[in-house]
Amino acid sequence: MNLKKIFIIAAMMLVILAVAAVSGCNEGSDDGPKATEKSADATDVPEVTEEPTAAPTEVPWQVDDQGRRLAGTDSGLTRDGTPKKYFTISFDDGITQDEHIIEIYMKYNFTSGTFFIDTGLFGVSWDWVGQTLGMPSLKHVRWTEAQIRAGIYDGYDVAVHTLGHMSLKDQKESVVIQQVQEDADNIYGITGIYPVGMAWPGGDTEYNDTTIKIVRDKTTIKFARATTTTNKFKLPKYWLKWTPTCSITAGNLLKLAEKFVAAEAEEDMLFYVWGHGYELDFYDSWDVLDQLIKMMTEADDIICVTNSEFYQLFKDEVPAYK
Ligand SMILES: [Zn+2]
Repeated sequence: MNLKKIFIIAAMMLVILAVAAVSGCNEGSDDGPKATEKSADATDVPEVTEEPTAAPTEVPWQVDDQGRRLAGTDSGLTRDGTPKKYFTISFDDGITQDEHIIEIYMKYNFTSGTFFIDTGLFGVSWDWVGQTLGMPSLKHVRWTEAQIRAGIYDGYDVAVHTLGHMSLKDQKESVVIQQVQEDADNIYGITGIYPVGMAWPGGDTEYNDTTIKIVRDKTTIKFARATTTTNKFKLPKYWLKWTPTCSITAGNLLKLAEKFVAAEAEEDMLFYVWGHGYELDFYDSWDVLDQLIKMMTEADDIICVTNSEFYQLFKDEVPAYK
């Protein structure tokens, strides 16, 4: 990594920190200086201006044994032993609607999005998605590698959705490993951050016990998001079968969001929403995403995290698999 990139990353971090200081739901520390800033008077200026003086070398990335920066380790978040409410959201496939999703995120200074991408399918258009849904005009077009290198996902969490998005349940072990690990390697090559997680391509019908154990034992991937809706605000039971609260298309999504905002955390709580950008076009429900992010960022007691940040915070408390 060259010096210029370090400075760019440092500058981005400073902007995020500065923004976080005035935002209820943020990537910054949930204890210490941030908590003080949130309750500080508007006149308490010195407190707010303190953090941006941090030197670039203080960006706290953790690295693996090959020196690669690991996803989710730069949030500055720690846990202080008291129960908290966490919100995380992810979108699959690495498609062009993600740009609009990020526009909505930026409107609320929300930097906690996770995107699962398939680096073996750059630029591929899946016309069959719209045709299957009876809306031939519906686009499902993946970004090209050049577009992603140009910065579509900069500042967001990019994770594995396998190379080719194939069903993994009946594949040879070597194929599963290649599909997962090469996607991770490619993402590292593009972003400079090594992913720690994935979303199962095709959802819960396309993997099985054997697949999970291959990923657990033979790859570096630590979590894998499933597609079963729980309607609950619970921590995952297993990292490699991480069941979300609900889909972005769920009819009760905003009701769940209201319930989560109103909830008192007696134990750590997680509201996990997942989906695909094309679904927001299909249902014409962009306003639902807008409202969701507004609600999560405006709540003082909700900590927004990427999937990878949540994993890093709770990695010792949830088993990989049974
Ligand atoms: Zn997918």
